[in-house]
Amino acid sequence: MNHDNSHALFQQALDLMPGGVNSPVRAFKSVGGEPFFAKRAEGAYLIDVDGNRYVDYIGSWGPMIAGHAHPKVIAAVDAVMRDGLSFGVPNALEVTMAQTITRLVPSCEMVRMVNSGTEATLSAIRLARGATGRNRIVKFEGCYHGHGDSFLVKAGSGMLTLGVPNSPGVPKTLADLTLTLPYNDFEAATRLFDDLGGDIAGVIVEPIVGNANCIVPAEGYLQHLRELCSKHGAILIFDEVMTGFRVALGGAQALYGVTPDLTTFGKIIGGGMPVGAYGGRRDLMRQIAPSGPIYQAGTLSGNPVAMAAGLATLELIQAPGFYENLEARTRLLRDGLQQAADAAGVAFTTTGVCAMFGLYFREGPINGYADAMASDGARFNRFFHGMLQRGVYFAPSAFEAGFLSSMHGETEIAHTLAAAREVFADIA
Ligand code: PLP
Repeated sequence: MNHDNSHALFQQALDLMPGGVNSPVRAFKSVGGEPFFAKRAEGAYLIDVDGNRYVDYIGSWGPMIAGHAHPKVIAAVDAVMRDGLSFGVPNALEVTMAQTITRLVPSCEMVRMVNSGTEATLSAIRLARGATGRNRIVKFEGCYHGHGDSFLVKAGSGMLTLGVPNSPGVPKTLADLTLTLPYNDFEAATRLFDDLGGDIAGVIVEPIVGNANCIVPAEGYLQHLRELCSKHGAILIFDEVMTGFRVALGGAQALYGVTPDLTTFGKIIGGGMPVGAYGGRRDLMRQIAPSGPIYQAGTLSGNPVAMAAGLATLELIQAPGFYENLEARTRLLRDGLQQAADAAGVAFTTTGVCAMFGLYFREGPINGYADAMASDGARFNRFFHGMLQRGVYFAPSAFEAGFLSSMHGETEIAHTLAAAREVFADIA
């Protein structure tokens, strides 16, 4: 594969942008080598500036569940943008978006649109703190909730890890308010609430941990968190920025039958445009300005073009059989990869829920962060580059979930598995 044009662009970019990118994981730092620069994308494929085509298992980190440049999404954007790109006054599409989200995710009785997942999670914890009058929040090892100060807190090994910022620039006094728990550990959560329950404003959790690859909740675990929050008067926040409309039409909360107080969204609801949202119980959402005192705002929030892309995508995913097909294809991919690894004698496990999956270079169950961290990163890196050379793009990090779109058909999966058989043999 020739990468001359990508290489030239990256050399320029390195002088102009930190690490040559606008979001760290794009720099291929953990896998080594240089990123390719996209020229365009269609269906299940990314096409780079050197004309190379890749089956894309990232989908812009989740939004592109209907595939890239879906004609219906493009047509919706095209029609709306001709009437103006941003109004700064309310528009009808915002109402339709709010109706759609509240209908598909009934725990969201009201919603507020924002511009990214980070804004959604920041706003949700502000609301939890404002509504409870408490300051501490609880997060889980391996969960990522965007780059807000309160979330950039490294998990420690203990049940109760008082915050240690893992990014310079996060004030210690703020990080100390973030408590970290091991995901899927029932006892640790109970003990923390027994000790500090009266101080905890909210618990924020990725119901399926897509930022430690893909860790699935143990049976009853999310329910356990629900009960602890209810008992101690804390707000339960499901961060469904990744899982929302990805693992089921109603998100992880529908799949596991657990009702959070607040939910954060991003990715799919924007259909590829910069969009986020948070929503939940009416009595809580009414405390947001201007109906209540808790302040949150946005110049471009509810942008009509972004709403159009999101609504067209949300329309597509409501087609009968949409999730069943996605799930069947993802299963085909996961089973095929497992067979290829087994045949080559490579220690390998996959996890997944519907159209979201994790690849681990180790054997045994993946129940928590430590299991995820025990994946063989060096072998993953060789796998990643071997697949990339064969025109298959998995996440350039051993700890990021993969995604399928409805445009990933049997052809793309057959191509992927043929490549994987060669690569697993190479890295065995
Ligand atoms: N929450 C989760 C679960 C995420 O996966 C992400 C991003 O990947 C975010 C929040 C932050 O979203 P954004 O990158 O749109 O700010």
